[in-house]
Amino acid sequence: MPPHAGHPVSETLPPQVRVHVLGAGPVGLAAAALLQSSDRFSVHLYEKRREYTRTRMVQLAPYLVADSIASYCNDYIDGESVEAIFEPSELAEGLAFRQSIPTDLMELLRGWTVGFCPLNAIERSLSDLIDARHAHPVTRTAGAITAQDAATMLESGDVLIDCTGTNSLLRESLAPNAGAGDGSANTFKLRLEYAIVVTFLYGHAYDCNEYCKYYKNIDNAYYKFIPAVKRTFYDGHVTHVTGIVNITAEDFERMPSRFDGAWLRGNFPQVAQSMDRFIAKVKTETNGEIVGDLDIIRIPLDLYRARNSTSLSLHLAGTGEHPFARSPVFLVGDAAMGSPYFQSISLGFECAMFLAGLLMQRDLPLAQMLARYEQFAYKQWLRVYMRSKMIKHNKDLFERIGDTFALLEQLHIY
Ligand SMILES: Cc1cc2nc3c(=O)[nH]c(=O)nc-3n(C[C@H](O)[C@H](O)[C@H](O)COP(=O)(O)OP(=O)(O)OC[C@H]3O[C@@H](n4cnc5c(N)ncnc54)[C@H](O)[C@@H]3O)c2cc1C
Repeated sequence: MPPHAGHPVSETLPPQVRVHVLGAGPVGLAAAALLQSSDRFSVHLYEKRREYTRTRMVQLAPYLVADSIASYCNDYIDGESVEAIFEPSELAEGLAFRQSIPTDLMELLRGWTVGFCPLNAIERSLSDLIDARHAHPVTRTAGAITAQDAATMLESGDVLIDCTGTNSLLRESLAPNAGAGDGSANTFKLRLEYAIVVTFLYGHAYDCNEYCKYYKNIDNAYYKFIPAVKRTFYDGHVTHVTGIVNITAEDFERMPSRFDGAWLRGNFPQVAQSMDRFIAKVKTETNGEIVGDLDIIRIPLDLYRARNSTSLSLHLAGTGEHPFARSPVFLVGDAAMGSPYFQSISLGFECAMFLAGLLMQRDLPLAQMLARYEQFAYKQWLRVYMRSKMIKHNKDLFERIGDTFALLEQLHIY
């Protein structure tokens, strides 16, 4: 490492470490809760939102609480990719770290892997858990942090963890050539498609599977309404349904960011008809009614990752005057990578666990710590990329069912 880069290669973190966690969404909270349990860290948590209001139903992946390599690789799609990408020793290390997770946190994780839960309930539970632990209180700061604030707050030996989500506060600051381009030098992004996400409550038990997606869309040549697998959840009173309808880039431009069913019916009748046909079939089958209105948002479905998920490149480039070249910075959660199709919270928790495991290794030289996190994040990205591309391909095939030639063109066997 160049002599002016701030940390010699062999330097380790000091015995007592101040860790700044930016963003108290699910992943920032999980990172804070993991580090809080060690005497070594004083954790500072920064959050701009006053309340946790996101009520969408989410479920965490069982691999988060796996206790063996076999159970970690249990998912029939993901399992093979995991075994192809990670060495057995890496998987064993991750499992060993899980054994050290405090019981209060592990209990919460276990609960979230077996049933659906509103996102804000996860956030509140983690936040309450952090506040209830008196041994190592976490210092909280309310309000929006800027990249400048983050740079100024750093003292020698501090660690900075950016958990500020998709529009990460620091992602673009971690590219050595940041400022030379359009401000996205550190983000690799694939726009897979555009969609509307339709969420509603249904006053009867309703479970969706692949056959249901097909049969209920049989009359929908375009704008198929697709409840994601495991995106329906019956809580004993109502079923929470989240469905996705692909739209064109032009449709996307003409829609507001959030609207209801009436607006969709008035402005995009073709999209609404497909959705209503699907819902009508659900009603005929189960004799229920929609409770309340439909909540609809339009989103671009992007698959992305940070090319640099730490400040390692800045260290190596020897840009010693750059504030993030002198301190270890890590991107975790949606700040580091994201897929529109699945389990991003679990992915973020997984990265938070790995990072906490690294930070707890007292003798690990800083440069190695950064390099190991980079490698881990890249491997997680490969896992996400493979699964996302498979889902996108299956969706494309699904859209063409009924049109044999279009389907064959999409198949690409060999
Ligand atoms: C419609 C929809 C459905 C989804 N369904 C699922 C699902 O079923 N399962 C799943 O796993 N994932 C799902 N996701 C994705 C999931 O919500 C995200 O992956 C997850 O919220 C990411 O967590 P995070 O903590 O990394 O980021 P975020 O949840 O975005 O949290 C970032 C936090 O940082 C704070 N923050 C940002 N900037 C600043 C700043 N400058 N200063 C201070 N604080 C700041 C924000 O207020 C926020 O609290 C879904 C997403 C969408 C849009």
